[in-house]
Amino acid sequence: MIALYRRTMRKRADARAVGTDGKRWVRSWINVYRTETEARVPADEGGLGRLIGEGLYSCVGKSHSYNGVQVVPGVTAMMMREGGLTTLSYDPATGTVRVGASVSVRELKTYLRDEHGRGLFNSGNYMEQSVIGALATGTHGFGPRAVMADSIVELTFLDGAGKRVTLKRGDPDFRYVALSFGTIAPIIELVLETKPLEPYVSVSSMSRLSKLDELKQGAIAANWAVMPYTDPEDPVIMLHALAECHEAEKLQAHPEPKGGSGKFAAWVLKRYYALDRFLPALRRPMQRFIDWLDLKQSERVITDPGDLDYLYDPKPGLKENRAPSITRGLFSTTYTGYNLAFFVPLERAPAVVKFIMREADALRDLGFYLKGIISVRELPGTAGPVFAANAHWPVAAIDLFADPRDYAWLERLQRLVMHYEPATRPHFGKSALGPDFCSALDDSHLAELMRIHRQHYPQGRLMFSERVRTMLGVGRPLPGESAADAGFA
Ligand SMILES: Cc1cc2nc3c(=O)[nH]c(=O)nc-3n(C[C@H](O)[C@H](O)[C@H](O)COP(=O)(O)OP(=O)(O)OC[C@H]3O[C@@H](n4cnc5c(N)ncnc54)[C@H](O)[C@@H]3O)c2cc1C
Repeated sequence: MIALYRRTMRKRADARAVGTDGKRWVRSWINVYRTETEARVPADEGGLGRLIGEGLYSCVGKSHSYNGVQVVPGVTAMMMREGGLTTLSYDPATGTVRVGASVSVRELKTYLRDEHGRGLFNSGNYMEQSVIGALATGTHGFGPRAVMADSIVELTFLDGAGKRVTLKRGDPDFRYVALSFGTIAPIIELVLETKPLEPYVSVSSMSRLSKLDELKQGAIAANWAVMPYTDPEDPVIMLHALAECHEAEKLQAHPEPKGGSGKFAAWVLKRYYALDRFLPALRRPMQRFIDWLDLKQSERVITDPGDLDYLYDPKPGLKENRAPSITRGLFSTTYTGYNLAFFVPLERAPAVVKFIMREADALRDLGFYLKGIISVRELPGTAGPVFAANAHWPVAAIDLFADPRDYAWLERLQRLVMHYEPATRPHFGKSALGPDFCSALDDSHLAELMRIHRQHYPQGRLMFSERVRTMLGVGRPLPGESAADAGFA
């Protein structure tokens, strides 16, 4: 009761602080990382240029990263999403859109759809983040052109003297800066490629991992979620596959369930999702029951070209306005739990998931439970930015969810996976970042990024997250208040 009251008061105070300068809290999504610091809301580019000349600073988008990459103690936080850098303009000749640092993904998608009948190549499953914040951490969806930053053709940032620097695709430093997780900041504008709006055939299936290859045949995009407490040999999965409409026939689906079994499956799942959130200890028996039912069903939908979230909720309209269904249920965890994610080579995903299931199951006696699904998004093809997850080869994004107080267990699982799969790459807004990622990211590429950073920020005023500083080997972390007060730093 008291905790709920405190949480409500905290949320109200945070809401009141939006758009204001002064001392306030910067919190990561789910509040696992936070700091009280001076905030400034840049009204325009000129104002921002003056502010960054005043002292140490960091940049914050919507502060929705889970891993605290945006939370830097003791420096002035530039609240980019709340500011006045609201450029949005479409160029029909090139099919590109210019977007400012204060624009959200929702605003961008709505503008493109309503005014120009265009859309983004891909996106994450949430739309409130700033476009630039999302692109800076490597936010991705699944299927073709999955990493959003792969669509950037031009970007402009302010250097340490407040001067504009513009880089275009093809410039030598571009592919480093296009996905640079706060080390080049503030980025004030981007130009992105767009695509025409089009419908897809979407098939959502409840099935088994052993059926995955068969069910995703003919798909251009696949996202599967595994129920972690079902049979570790052949777990229950929920697959969402998308195909071009003219390829519709190639996409496999389970036959229509006979009798009442389809309705029964829907009934079980609906109740399961509701209970799953609140009763972690019941999760395993409930998933074992679902495993025993051995439900196999598919749902085929033609997506609405104007639907902003068809990748995550194929039915027309926005998922936030509708009751759970097979696919919708997959993503509710994102909003209620701590989410840690990393990328592994695509062909390794089934083995990695089975490994995580076994490890997590063995931690039950210590009270640790993964939330209801392990999500796997397939990123086929490769992307241009050096630090994109799929810069070298196709990867799978593995998303793990747990209660916020259990987030450290997820870090342990990430580390274990990295022991066996050294090619594991980080999600810059969701992984536990640290030096153990350096070899997968390639030390020489990290050194090149730091060279570019030092070239543009010789004054040393741009600060980025302590974990990123440790990863890049650029000095000790900034002293947070407790370190400073204790005389520890
Ligand atoms: C509910 C939810 C769902 C999500 N779904 C997905 C998903 O489907 N796929 C996925 O990949 N990720 C997903 N994420 C992660 C999220 O997309 C990223 O963490 C993203 O960075 C958040 O954007 P933001 O504007 O909040 O940035 P912040 O968290 O505020 O900042 C992130 C980084 O960007 C830097 N930055 C911000 N603005 C600027 C700027 N103007 N110039 C330079 N650097 C800047 C910050 O310094 C920091 O390093 C999800 C997060 C949430 C909370």
